[in-house]
Amino acid sequence: MRRLILLGATGSIGTQTLDLLEKDDAFSLVGIAIGHRKSAIPSLIKRFPSIEAVSLLDKDNIEELQGLFPKVRFYFGEDGASRLANETQYDEAVNAIVGFAGLLPSIEVLSKGKVLHLANKESLVVGGQLIGRLIKEKGGRIYPIDSEHAAIAKCLSSIDRKDIDKVILTASGGPFRLMSRMALNGITPAMALAHPTWKMGNKITIDSATMMNKGFEVMEACYLFDIEPEDIDIFIHPQSLVHSGIRLKDGSYILDYGKADMHGPIAYSLSHGEKIEGIRKVSSLDELKDCDFMAYDPARFPAVGLAIDSFKQKGNRGAALNGANEMAVSLFLEGKLPFKEIEKVLEEVLKKIPFDPASTYPLLASYDSLARQEAKAFGN
Ligand code: NDP
Ligand code: MG
Repeated sequence: MRRLILLGATGSIGTQTLDLLEKDDAFSLVGIAIGHRKSAIPSLIKRFPSIEAVSLLDKDNIEELQGLFPKVRFYFGEDGASRLANETQYDEAVNAIVGFAGLLPSIEVLSKGKVLHLANKESLVVGGQLIGRLIKEKGGRIYPIDSEHAAIAKCLSSIDRKDIDKVILTASGGPFRLMSRMALNGITPAMALAHPTWKMGNKITIDSATMMNKGFEVMEACYLFDIEPEDIDIFIHPQSLVHSGIRLKDGSYILDYGKADMHGPIAYSLSHGEKIEGIRKVSSLDELKDCDFMAYDPARFPAVGLAIDSFKQKGNRGAALNGANEMAVSLFLEGKLPFKEIEKVLEEVLKKIPFDPASTYPLLASYDSLARQEAKAFGN
């Protein structure tokens, strides 16, 4: 049995991972990290009695929990998840924490040369270069959970790289894809949280509405598959049935097709890329009668271009963009920033923070804080 830790166990990806682990005797869940939803801990330990270590953000109630579960090691605080990843014995980790907070745990797992099932795309957006170096030095491995990247990995496994014309990254376009930028005045958090095809955590749902998520996914794909943004074509595909794929030089496509359900990509990642289902080969996209594909408009969704520039510049750019975005999304969700202003905040913060080629964790963390501070000034 493979010993597994699950970081972000109470979230959207975390709970779907738990569904799969419950039915899979290849894994023994030995550690979990959560954020604030501590009321979930007793039922999670009862459901998975193999849990030896738990991390949570708040210290309150920790003595009560320790009394209830004397054999479990508890960690708390912002560094709890990474300390758990450092001190627990495990073979593989799922990182489903949201945001910059996921980077240090990813570094911890890969510093041990372990297998990382990665949902936390921000780890690569902010620390792609650092993570690349760690994998080279320590021999760890990433299996992506993000549906587009799991799809691309599936498609790549069946072809020769020299036959590839483009990597095709699909995007639902979010709930406002048919609205002009002018029409975006008055968008409320409830409107932006109503994603047409995927049910996800709040932060990624807002990132989908601005297409910041697609920009981050371009960066993620470039780091994961060692490609450049020019190797990728983004298509708006509102039905979310094609999860991404490859166009070959002969004009045909290899695509991952199936319903929008994250259990599939998570299972694919946990199987180390063995569980290949849903691949379709078509000579033209018109063969997929239930799917529409449209070019995306860079002027309508400026966040994608900001991500591409950040990837090209490297250094502190990913940290600055991601930190500004996390703060801008929080401000929007708190009603302190209009939806339409999110991208403007990103542009302004990137202009204010000078380029620094450094990519050590302490420096990335300092640029994350600086970007949040600069972005916060735009809130009212
Ligand atoms: P959720 O908001 O649903 O869940 C986030 C998880 O992270 C929760 O368990 C939360 O704990 C925990 N968490 C938050 N902050 C911290 C912290 N500082 N330390 C430790 N744990 C923390 O997010 P999603 O599941 O939607 O997304 C998780 C990641 O997966 C993101 O990076 C997202 O981009 C990526 N992803 C998600 C997809 C989806 O379908 N949801 C699809 C593809 C990628 P608590 O709730 O207890 O506070
Ligand atoms: Mg995705």
